[in-house]
Amino acid sequence: MNKEMVCVACPIGCSLVVELDKAGTILSVAGNQCKRGNEYAITECTAPTRTLTTTAKVLGGITPLVPVRSAKPLPKGLLIESVKLINALKIKAPIKIGDVLIANVLDSGVDIIASNSCPKM
Ligand code: SF4
Repeated sequence: MNKEMVCVACPIGCSLVVELDKAGTILSVAGNQCKRGNEYAITECTAPTRTLTTTAKVLGGITPLVPVRSAKPLPKGLLIESVKLINALKIKAPIKIGDVLIANVLDSGVDIIASNSCPKM
């Protein structure tokens, strides 16, 4: 069985074809121009991850929301619960870019951080 995907590890976006056996074991990866594509395909087939980007509510800031993101890619299975936790936040301004808003979200080892600053009003 072949699985097709686009490598998103860089802007080139190589089209990858992953050959799997019936048990889901990866037999080969084709179409990648570098080894990062091979690593991406393996991760995508075994433990897919995504960088989470969204916004969080701010109290007393010049804007009502601040953009936030995961400091590293999170397992896909944790994205929805992570967004629920972020949606429940009400962060007091001032906020500096890189501030940790949720440390080790859902015991993932990944922090949720501010991806922009928000001064006080
Ligand atoms: S395989 Fe390499 S060159 Fe191709 S998109 Fe992935 S990182 Fe970029």
